[in-house]
Amino acid sequence: MDSDLSDAVLKMITAQRCGTQLTGDFPHPACHAGRALIWGTDGYLKDCTGGWHDAGDYGRYVVPGAKAVMDLLLSGRADALDEARWELDWMLKMQNSDGGVYHKLTCRDFPGFVMPDQETEELIASPVSTAATADFAGVMAFAASIFHEKRYLVPAMMAYVFLIANPSIIPFFNPEGMVTGEYSDSCDKDERFFASCALYCATSNPYFMKKARSLYDMDFASQGDWDCMGIYGLLCLIHSRKRPDLKWNAKADILSRADELVCIAELNPFKAALSTYRWGSNMEVTDNGCLLMEAFRISGKEKYREYAKKQLDYILGNNAQKMSFITGFGEKSPLHPHHRPSEAMGKPMPGMMVGGPDQHLQDPYALENFKGLEPCMCYADELASYSTNEVSVYWNASLFRLITMLENNG
Ligand SMILES: [Zn+2]
Repeated sequence: MDSDLSDAVLKMITAQRCGTQLTGDFPHPACHAGRALIWGTDGYLKDCTGGWHDAGDYGRYVVPGAKAVMDLLLSGRADALDEARWELDWMLKMQNSDGGVYHKLTCRDFPGFVMPDQETEELIASPVSTAATADFAGVMAFAASIFHEKRYLVPAMMAYVFLIANPSIIPFFNPEGMVTGEYSDSCDKDERFFASCALYCATSNPYFMKKARSLYDMDFASQGDWDCMGIYGLLCLIHSRKRPDLKWNAKADILSRADELVCIAELNPFKAALSTYRWGSNMEVTDNGCLLMEAFRISGKEKYREYAKKQLDYILGNNAQKMSFITGFGEKSPLHPHHRPSEAMGKPMPGMMVGGPDQHLQDPYALENFKGLEPCMCYADELASYSTNEVSVYWNASLFRLITMLENNG
């Protein structure tokens, strides 16, 4: 395994840090250093500095950020744990005094292709959602069980208090006049399950296990993406030393999903565990690789590791494009990722995994150029094709976890 690769993949996440001066090949002074307007208040400003720019733009989002934090924490690598703290410490600032967590922090619109310190429009903390609050409770509780720090556990409990007081979903939609990424989630049951499992692991309080049981869904292991956090609840139970009944469900669910993924991969010409190609299909591949490695850890069955390795092979070049989907690695790799610092500096930042083929033609370039193509061919190394050639911290975090699991054999 190429350790330069895992280092570069993690380094990209560090380079997405907000609110601090960065040196190196993509330098900029501290960006987004001012206080943010809390939407719906009469001009109340709050310090919400820090965190990571989510993707090719400079928005900061609690929900996908939580997925990235979990993958870094689960990787267990010391430098990744440190990087996760950068986002966790920002998330702490996104909590309201009643325990609820603001969904996101962005300007009203996307900036041009400039460096982050040149985005100087008003910063706005969007309203609280239960998905963001439950994800916050989950990652803070899991972090508390790793770092043994009250400064993560108490806010996690306060977020859970908010969830109990608000048993129905508080969905998120962009406030009027805002057009930045929405990350709107129509179901918060999986996030509440994740929060309950993580808090059980952090506190041993049986109340949380009772709640987790009432929220449990046997499909959690087969659902993926930033809006499906049930799998992370199962992983909290598996990786914790606690021994609840659910742990056995969790292991069985993961093994059963791994068997399905092997079948799906067998029928894919590149042995990718994909049956369709959606926005961010490459993360689906790396997430599935991680699940296969979890199955290998549980069972010791070589077949699962073998198929996990095939998922990384797909990302590195065994795909319809015959190219590496990670900038700077492989003979042919993306040169024009949809990523503002890369465009502003005139060179692709290395170590970034692009989204990959998306058969649903979700940007004007794709609509114009991909009509009639096979699903696996719906990709272009073009700045304009943001639905296939953008990057994000949570895609990189998933890739990082897969690489480190393969490096460590589990
Ligand atoms: Zn910034």
